[in-house]
Amino acid sequence: MSDRKQVVIAGAGPVGMVAALKLAQTGLDVTIYEMGDDLSVDSKASTFHIPTLELCDELGLIDDMLEQGLMVPLFQQRDRKGGVIAQLDLSLLKDETKYPYRLQLEQSKFTRLVRNHLDKLPNAHLFYGAGVATAEDHTDYAVAILNDGTRVECDWLIGCDGANSMVRQSFGFEFPGETFAERFLVMSTTFEFRDVMTDLAEVAYITDPDEWMVLLKTPDHWRCLMAVSPDEDDDVAVTDERIQERLNSVLADLGHEHVDFPMVGKSLYRVNQRVAKNFAINRILLAGDSAHMNNPLGGFGMNSGIHDAWSAGDVIEAVELRGADAHKAAQIHGVVRSEVCHSYVQANTKKNFKDMQEKDEAARQARNAMLRALQDDVEAQKEYLRGTSMLTSAHEAIARVRNELAALSS
Ligand SMILES: Cc1cc2nc3c(=O)[nH]c(=O)nc-3n(C[C@H](O)[C@H](O)[C@H](O)COP(=O)(O)OP(=O)(O)OC[C@H]3O[C@@H](n4cnc5c(N)ncnc54)[C@H](O)[C@@H]3O)c2cc1C
Repeated sequence: MSDRKQVVIAGAGPVGMVAALKLAQTGLDVTIYEMGDDLSVDSKASTFHIPTLELCDELGLIDDMLEQGLMVPLFQQRDRKGGVIAQLDLSLLKDETKYPYRLQLEQSKFTRLVRNHLDKLPNAHLFYGAGVATAEDHTDYAVAILNDGTRVECDWLIGCDGANSMVRQSFGFEFPGETFAERFLVMSTTFEFRDVMTDLAEVAYITDPDEWMVLLKTPDHWRCLMAVSPDEDDDVAVTDERIQERLNSVLADLGHEHVDFPMVGKSLYRVNQRVAKNFAINRILLAGDSAHMNNPLGGFGMNSGIHDAWSAGDVIEAVELRGADAHKAAQIHGVVRSEVCHSYVQANTKKNFKDMQEKDEAARQARNAMLRALQDDVEAQKEYLRGTSMLTSAHEAIARVRNELAALSS
């Protein structure tokens, strides 16, 4: 009997875990190799958008997610000094989706919740302390070589091993783009911002030409996301004093008194905008941060990574269960996911970064006027929300992969 595994996944982040659960639920044998000793506890993504919630519903995850997360239908665009520019309401989309809101749920809770489901499947295997060092393409199968030298032959390899993906690097896939000079700081506090900013929604993008900020409520605390200027030292930027100063300056601009923010976490991140030149080679597929990275404004990185995982799962199912041609099927993943990444995720996150700190007064006023007008025009607001919630782009891309795969299998 061959030792060849059916599906190997490198990396047990949110993307690898979703790919694993989707494939294991169809009965395929799935093995995940995770470099860490446990699932990551990093404080990164916390926003699940509508199409991702719909996919999680298909996987049977949604009840657990709704129990642990915070449903947020309203979000605001604000001006740091002027307050609310516009408040937008995802519940306007209630006739189009079962989930007309953003779900605020930390990715470290999500991966653990997915693990609970995987643990129940005898055909899903998760190994820790098992980094994939390199990968080989043998056209009709792949090999993952682990850090301890073990060679694992497999029908399919999905690289979900994050930004420094060894799977991607094994094939020399270029990863062009840029690393921002600014770093992004995330801090969490149990302070209730709405005690002082009484009109604050649970998600607020606070624009400012000099010092923008995003405030996001999660079930346990508020998360504050801000940029650290290229001129500021990392060591200084993360001191409690500096963070307290920055948060208080936001309150001071609105005329509020000094607050001593109780901090429950803080992390500094380098931010990249990069897209791999290839997302697929024969029976090796890339998904998530291994294939693309973007700034977190809009909450698209993990969400689009989960959509990649879905596409990778659809490809493997079409080949293994319905006899589609493996190489053509893999190319569908490569082409569609790369296109949507460039046209939607990259384009919109770059625009969001520009909008948050727009220095041109006329451009800022024009955007503010556009946002205010949405509040009085329900149809225009719905169209805007379909865009910002990834609804249109994700539905189109998922349908395109399915249609093109169906054409291969027929
Ligand atoms: C501050 C911040 C806020 C963000 N907010 C959002 C948000 O609200 N919404 C959103 O959609 N996105 C957000 N993102 C982006 C999001 O966190 C990432 O896109 C997401 O983590 C990508 O998931 P992944 O599974 O591809 O990679 P990762 O989360 O990086 O997981 C990769 C996994 O692979 C493991 N691994 C690495 N190398 C190897 C190897 N060689 N072999 C085996 N295992 C390996 C790692 O240990 C890890 O467990 C945010 C990012 C940051 C920094």
